[in-house]
Amino acid sequence: MTTTETATAVVAAPAAATATPAKTTNLLEFDLDGLAAFCEKLGEKRFRATQLFRWIHQRGARDFDAMSDLAKALRDKLKGCAHVQALPVISEHVSADGTVKWLFDVGGGNAVEAVFIPEDDRGTLCVSSQAGCAVGCRFCSTGHQGFSRNLTTGEIVAQLWFAEHALRARLGKTERIISNVVMMGMGEPLQNYSALVPALRVMLDDHAYGLSRRRVTVSTSGVVPMIDRLAQDCPVALAVSLHAPNDPLRDNLVPLNRKYPIEELLAACNRYLEHAPRDFITFEYCMLDGVNDQLEHAQQLIDLVKPARGAGVRCKFNLIPFNPFPASGLLRSSQAQVLAFGKLLSDAGIVTTVRKTRGDDIDAACGQLAGDVKDRTKAAERMAKQRTIALKLVT
Ligand code: SAH
Ligand code: SF4
Repeated sequence: MTTTETATAVVAAPAAATATPAKTTNLLEFDLDGLAAFCEKLGEKRFRATQLFRWIHQRGARDFDAMSDLAKALRDKLKGCAHVQALPVISEHVSADGTVKWLFDVGGGNAVEAVFIPEDDRGTLCVSSQAGCAVGCRFCSTGHQGFSRNLTTGEIVAQLWFAEHALRARLGKTERIISNVVMMGMGEPLQNYSALVPALRVMLDDHAYGLSRRRVTVSTSGVVPMIDRLAQDCPVALAVSLHAPNDPLRDNLVPLNRKYPIEELLAACNRYLEHAPRDFITFEYCMLDGVNDQLEHAQQLIDLVKPARGAGVRCKFNLIPFNPFPASGLLRSSQAQVLAFGKLLSDAGIVTTVRKTRGDDIDAACGQLAGDVKDRTKAAERMAKQRTIALKLVT
């Protein structure tokens, strides 16, 4: 783990935090096909939609008058029926290590977060998919807050649109800054599937962010039917929050396991890999003191993914030191225990990493983020303190 001793900058909400124009369509809601359909209704050809899409996502433009290669007549039409609007920013915190955390207002007293994590060779944005979460994992403060609502496609995309262009403006850059997106913020992305998939398509589209399939990760607690659909619709990198090596324990930690037990989940992982032949599944495993962190648990995991007979699952493990919060009644495993656990997995030939903390001084976290705007100070205190460069146990 890292500790960060330097100061935190709290920056006032940037300019995008203005009121959403009423009754016009937010173009961030659309993938390219959606935008083409919208433009068609205005009597415009698809290539116009492509131009518009590029202005919005590649250039960060929101003022139609600035889109100089669009005909004036089209710009005027757009001004009457459309807008480009990010989410209002409640706060922005910049860590000494370069991690940036934004808290966005999604209305009704709810907030979601996005976190940017710069590393030497990449810039990763952790994005939220829901306000709250209905899965209710015991170790997750989002789960303890309950479910408020699904984010729309535009609200998911807005986190990337805003972060990318705010960072470019701040750093004085014109080239891409965010190279990876992980759907590891608040919420269970596969329980918001219909909004998620168009958002993923925007991330992957060469006319927008042009991220490769392997640089966009969906993290799921194991919504088996939707894993199958994602394989068909948009097979990006898949992370599965496993957290336990047997059903009784997983039933307790990740209640969704009662519906989709481990065997079914692993079978879905293997079906997923058929669509992504050179890929692997990342299993996330939150290390909980005395609960799931014993060496016998590691051995059970090995037996699951590398059985003596049968194919097993092509995977790597990411061990996450638990970030405690009082309501959970759980504690973080000792570092020695995490390392011993990881070593057993590594010795069995499983690539295993331990998540390292980033942005400690700003409570930058994914996975257990702020819930209620009215209660955000308390929520911030509960936030996880780890994210994430991987410390390799084996290479
Ligand atoms: N709902 C999805 C994605 C969001 S959670 C999922 O569960 O995969 C993203 C990650 O944060 C998950 O792996 C989850 O296990 C982890 N997480 C949640 N609460 C945590 C905590 N208190 N400490 C450490 N990791 C946590
Ligand atoms: Fe939801 Fe993921 Fe938290 Fe579980 S860990 S409650 S699925 S956000």
